[in-house]
Amino acid sequence: MTESSCTKYELRCNECGKSYGNQPLSACADCLAPLEVQYDLDTVRGRFTRDTVAAGPSNIWRYKQLLPIPEGFEPDLPVGFTPLVRAKGLGKRIGAANLYVKNDAVCFPTLSFKDRVVSVALANAQAFGFTTVGCSSTGNLANSVAAQSARLGIKACILVPADLEAAKILNTQVYGARLVRIDGNYDHVNRLCTLIADEYNWGFVNVNLRPYYAEGSKTVGYEIAEQLGWKLPDNIVCPMAGGSLIRKIRKAFKELVALGLVEDKPVRFFGAQATGCSPISHAVREGWDHIEPQRPNTIARSLAIGNPADGPAAAKMIRETGGWAEDVSDVEIVAGMQELAETEGIFTETAGGVTTAVTARLYAHGRIKADETTVVCITGNGLKTTDALVGRFEAEPAIKPRLAAFDEYLRSLDAPAPTFEPEQEFELAGGAR
Ligand SMILES: *Cc1c(COP(=O)(O)O)cnc(C)c1O
Ligand SMILES: [Zn+2]
Repeated sequence: MTESSCTKYELRCNECGKSYGNQPLSACADCLAPLEVQYDLDTVRGRFTRDTVAAGPSNIWRYKQLLPIPEGFEPDLPVGFTPLVRAKGLGKRIGAANLYVKNDAVCFPTLSFKDRVVSVALANAQAFGFTTVGCSSTGNLANSVAAQSARLGIKACILVPADLEAAKILNTQVYGARLVRIDGNYDHVNRLCTLIADEYNWGFVNVNLRPYYAEGSKTVGYEIAEQLGWKLPDNIVCPMAGGSLIRKIRKAFKELVALGLVEDKPVRFFGAQATGCSPISHAVREGWDHIEPQRPNTIARSLAIGNPADGPAAAKMIRETGGWAEDVSDVEIVAGMQELAETEGIFTETAGGVTTAVTARLYAHGRIKADETTVVCITGNGLKTTDALVGRFEAEPAIKPRLAAFDEYLRSLDAPAPTFEPEQEFELAGGAR
């Protein structure tokens, strides 16, 4: 427990409730369930109001009273507080009258929501005295750990599956981090990191520091509520990899209700996965309380976790709220990326294509009604996964720098030539599963 002038928090087992104080540990020794940070909300009451939040900085640290940050920690990196934009164009396309996009494709500093979790994890890594930090990553986490540890001057060792997108590899190496490519999938990488963390006493943000790391995701939920004018939406649509983010948005809403910052109302949570790695959406559809691990095979690499640590809890939570989960094919993912770009001017990565395509399907199937308020969580930037779009746009031959050449060019477009190959047209909203 921390000093009385600060928020009190500690790790507790999600299953049996056993307390573990504060230490770098992710699972209960008795039942192996994930540990989660729990707060003594009485130590927060009165110090966390709409006014104290409004007086805070324009980044996630405006919510620091509800984050597990050690005493004396002075946050200085302006992470988060990304735009919540009304999505009229996309809404019109898919039949949604009250649609919003939470745009973490422009999160500072590395253009994904992972910047939020890493900043909270690294604050704790320093307090626990780790001199080397690391992570097992599907890409975005690698970028963020590399960037933020460079700024803090701590050593980083980052392990990734060997088949990661080139841009995500380069976006890690440029910060000077040690990057180790592993001949295996994410689940192999993660298991290895657990062994390394023990053997070398390193702070792995999503392994031994995972409970602290995961709390950073709550800031997406705080921001959504604040940006809606301190109101909760009817629905959240959220991509799922390990299944942590979607649960933490709900935890954030519950805390805001408990502290009286928003009025309570039912919010339904909808999870989005790629069909090529869909253990959580599968469990939701089957009504299972367990996860059947899968071997990932999808272009949505940032979501490609076949054995998600928070999968069982996420599936249970989604059903509890009356929500649902869907998964979409790689073809639909690319269509979703293009649809969001064309309608909203937002270029998201494959994970955002997943979320956009799943959202369209949820409206098409009537799982979400047209006039409900829905927030779609876009979590990463399209410039990192341009591989997914290779071949989708023809490189046109260059023309001479003359007006006549341009006239001729425009006339050639009017010619009744086929502009799309038949296989490039496909239905986004699905229905055909
Ligand atoms: C990591 C990641 C997610 C999912 O996060 P979990 O908390 O593991 O479910 C979603 N989108 C992107 C772009 C990510 O990098
Ligand atoms: Zn336990």
